Amino acid sequence: MAQQTPMMQQYLSIKSEYKDAFLFFRLGDFYELFHEDAIQAAQLLEITLTKRGKGDDAIPMCGVPYHSAESYIDKIIEKGYKIAVCEQVEDPREAKGVVKRDVVRVITPGTVMEGRALSAEENHYIAALSFHKDKIAYAKSDLTTGETEAGIVTDELVELERVLFIDGMKELIVSHDYPGDLKSWLKAVPFTVSFDDQDTIPEPLQSLYDGQDEAVEKAVGRVWSYLSETQKRSLDHLQPVTVRMSQQFMQMDAHTRRNLELTSSLIDRTKKGTLFGLLDETKTAMGSRRLRRWIESPLYHQQAIERRLELVNKLKDEMLERVNIQDALQNVYDLERLVGKVAYGNVNARELVQLKRSLQQAPSIFEAVNKLGIEGRAVTKEAELCEALADHLQNALVDEPPISTKDGGMIRKGFHEQLDEYREANENGKTWLSNLEREEREKSSIKTLKIGYNRVFGYYLEVSRGQSHLVPDYFERKQTLTNAERYVTPELKDMERKILDAQEKMEVLEYDLFVQIRETTKAQITKIQQLAKVISYIDVLQGFAVVSENRRFTRPSFTDDRTLNLVNSRHPVVEVTIPAGDYVANDVHLHEEREMLLITGPNMAGKSTYMRQVAIISIMAQIGCYVPSDTAQLPRFDRIFTRIGAADDLVSGQSTFMVEMVETEYALNQATNNSLILLDEIGRGTSTYDGMALAQAIIEFIHERVRAKTLFSTHYHELTVLEEELETLDNVHVKAEEEDGNVVFLHRVEKGRADKSYGIHVAKLASLPTEVTDRAETLLKTYESGQPTAPVQERTEPMPDEQLTLFEEPKRAEKVKEPKPTTDRELAQLKEELQQLDVLHLTPFEALEKLYEWQRKLR
Ligand code: ADP
Repeated sequence: MAQQTPMMQQYLSIKSEYKDAFLFFRLGDFYELFHEDAIQAAQLLEITLTKRGKGDDAIPMCGVPYHSAESYIDKIIEKGYKIAVCEQVEDPREAKGVVKRDVVRVITPGTVMEGRALSAEENHYIAALSFHKDKIAYAKSDLTTGETEAGIVTDELVELERVLFIDGMKELIVSHDYPGDLKSWLKAVPFTVSFDDQDTIPEPLQSLYDGQDEAVEKAVGRVWSYLSETQKRSLDHLQPVTVRMSQQFMQMDAHTRRNLELTSSLIDRTKKGTLFGLLDETKTAMGSRRLRRWIESPLYHQQAIERRLELVNKLKDEMLERVNIQDALQNVYDLERLVGKVAYGNVNARELVQLKRSLQQAPSIFEAVNKLGIEGRAVTKEAELCEALADHLQNALVDEPPISTKDGGMIRKGFHEQLDEYREANENGKTWLSNLEREEREKSSIKTLKIGYNRVFGYYLEVSRGQSHLVPDYFERKQTLTNAERYVTPELKDMERKILDAQEKMEVLEYDLFVQIRETTKAQITKIQQLAKVISYIDVLQGFAVVSENRRFTRPSFTDDRTLNLVNSRHPVVEVTIPAGDYVANDVHLHEEREMLLITGPNMAGKSTYMRQVAIISIMAQIGCYVPSDTAQLPRFDRIFTRIGAADDLVSGQSTFMVEMVETEYALNQATNNSLILLDEIGRGTSTYDGMALAQAIIEFIHERVRAKTLFSTHYHELTVLEEELETLDNVHVKAEEEDGNVVFLHRVEKGRADKSYGIHVAKLASLPTEVTDRAETLLKTYESGQPTAPVQERTEPMPDEQLTLFEEPKRAEKVKEPKPTTDRELAQLKEELQQLDVLHLTPFEALEKLYEWQRKLR
């Protein structure tokens, strides 16, 4: 291979330090990519792959223009990759040899500061784990807002998922020596995984963590050193770490959050049809993000909850103040992210004006909040108004500055004397030019004469072709165009120098002033962040007041004796998706003697909705919102678990019975008597008797050991006999009636067990061919009359183990019916089929089909 050019040597040496990133190598007006990077990027970005050099030594290359790089960068980041941006770090005119280049920033999925990848309503998280002396700690930061939260988790994967599988998680950093059993998990997580062994908090940030826990410190150290290494600039907006004590919050694992559709819907992963979508009446992006976080982790401490509820109460009653607050909030921009940009150094004047406008709203917000009594005053006490800064920005910047910070036009007249002088000189120069234009036109009688400007020739006098014979001698020709000639005069050149001089000075001075203003703002970052917190807090609560009023919610109260009483309660999200007035409100009563409800009723009757309604109402209460119920007394739940029978959970792609069982195990182990457990058709993912046996065992376990409030829906009507044996379990059913052979769902929850399944009626509703439903009705009658052909018999004794027939020898079948002799070949074939069967990926229906087929072969 031929000797590398010096520039290529430079490229390769830099690339060797950034192997896991696309190196965007600045060459003039382009970022170029070479070798493997180029091949991959050309494909990803759908741009042309070219070559640099000739013959065998040619190397693959592609490039994107510098000024439109952003959209290409977004595209790469969205796919989960990283980009190292390499710039020229010296003036090419002064360079001796190859221009010096260096990576100025590494952009990774978790560290984007702008562009399409950022959603205003969602935090943008980058997290790190540390494994230290049997402890696992996590830290997660949002670089755009400067927030960091950290804590300890147990080594259960479900626990890791609880803290990491949240909206907006983009990247996770681990050390190379992470525990081996995480390997396949890390491969499957839905965000980018990066490796970094550093775990010391960088020096300038050390004061931001004052905790004692070494594992937590290392996790924070890892995420912050990664941020420093990749961003290569001051991170002045990082805020002190909030160490999270799990006891302060209601715990919900990722599955439960997803399943309850708290912030993203199972159907399309958007906020439509979710609790977040319903409650998001916030006016600011900060408020919206805060609400999302609140819903992801409701509070546990009563005092903290009551503080929010009391303010919602006030905001609901004091209409005038609420409207004042809302009006002001309308004009508040994303302070948190603006401040991030200030610290980062990439804020522009237009954004500083947005910051100013936001700060200017604060006094009226505070005034209105203070009028809400002692609770309101307690909130505003948490922050200072940054009035001096708002005034400064008001005086310094024009109302509508340009986006570019280099071309002037940002600073208000009267702010800086010298700048005003330059501007005047510049303005005068321009007036002088138009006077000159008029004079020359008159003197020469050239009607088409006009003054123009371009970057190469500066100012010139332009005369159209037809009139060039009128040009006086002292015009010096500079350029010939098709239809015109361009000239200069000594006088014009003289003025040009003055104008351009003033212009340049003006722009340089403006930029300097802008930087000063940015730095003055930077010095106030902590205060602004504090203010942003208060404003977003108020924003969420005013939103609660609005929804509570519009949707007739009531204030919940909390009980100390673990009783739960909801009268006429509703599922707030389902309620708005069906025609107004159609929702059937239901009561829920749970107490020491009634900890568990076994819910039966036909499919589609409303069992899941009823169960979820209890969870959603509890979550709403514990985030400090009013709830959809005529009256609501609730215990405070430390944890909520929901588990859904495998067949239902298709959306998440986790349809296997194994997953269902692993998650149920977790719920049973973690739940306390202060928890709420919802089990929806658990056990359905396996054969009937298997499933029923498991369901019963689970119910008994919770009843004896856990004593958590539990709602258990099932289509195994046989389980309703448990009511007699288990003291604190009661049967309820969701009522349906038969009318002219059709089922009518009443959605009313009543005492006792359901009398019928109405499965065939539901099938009719689903327009199954009449031939099928008629035949099913006939069969049902046969089964119910107890004829021996009925395949499923009512269970009368405790589960015998003979139900677990799937893996057993055919001898049990012999008892039932004399088999026809089975050949060795057939047996071997069956055995092979059984061995190769992927049990974990069978749907219950497929499993039944298989069983049926084998049985048929053996008979
Ligand atoms: P199940 O779990 O019994 O199969 P779901 O809880 O999924 O039934 O409810 C099925 C549908 O019935 C819901 O999507 C909703 O449209 C409607 N529904 C449920 N509960 C009610 C209710 N209380 N009032 C009115 N409609 C309801």
